[in-house]
Amino acid sequence: MKHLPRILVVEDEPAIAELISVNLRHNGFQPIWVMDAETAQREIDDILPDVILLDWMLPGESGLTLARRWRQSARSKGVPILMLTARGEEADRVAGLETGADDYIVKPFSPRELLARIRAVLRRRAPEQAGGVVQVGDLSLDADTWRVTYQGQALKVGPTEFKLLQYLLRHPERVHSRGTLLDKVWGDHVYIEERTVDVHVKRLREALGEGGRMIETVRGAGYRLTAQVQG
Ligand code: CA
Repeated sequence: MKHLPRILVVEDEPAIAELISVNLRHNGFQPIWVMDAETAQREIDDILPDVILLDWMLPGESGLTLARRWRQSARSKGVPILMLTARGEEADRVAGLETGADDYIVKPFSPRELLARIRAVLRRRAPEQAGGVVQVGDLSLDADTWRVTYQGQALKVGPTEFKLLQYLLRHPERVHSRGTLLDKVWGDHVYIEERTVDVHVKRLREALGEGGRMIETVRGAGYRLTAQVQG
């Protein structure tokens, strides 16, 4: 099972929301559509999205106010925000970006442009979700096809172990504390204990077979993925 990036779509116009949602779904994203600020907030409190698409003109609180609040909140400040705006004026764009939005798209926009912008903010904020192949030594992971291989042999890896491995492969030869791994891999670790990391590292090692030796325990510090396996 692949982790589909979760995109919270805050948009009060059903026709636009529907168009966006269909396009996201067809392109490997998981859209969650909400029509107002209150429902959006509940959604964020419940499961943190990977990207927020935020309409500027909403009933009640404006997109601008929401963007500012989500940027200031410890829980949501790391989530990329893409503003959707009908306003094309320079001053408005600047205002949107100043509240902390990562980018903006002027309506009407093409689905292709929307997807490109979403992928761009994901790449900037969370390279782990942007896809592509990453390889260290004999160990290779393809985020687009969800394949992990060691010495050319395909391996079965669970979804959490996949994300963990992806992070380790992108940051090899470095020691990562359990706290860092929780932060970078789970992202939203309010209710997760550090020993959860140990459980998933153990599973990952098992899934990798011989390649599991590449993940070293660094006593008192955390874990490191290395191509220079000892012994
Ligand atoms: Ca609107």
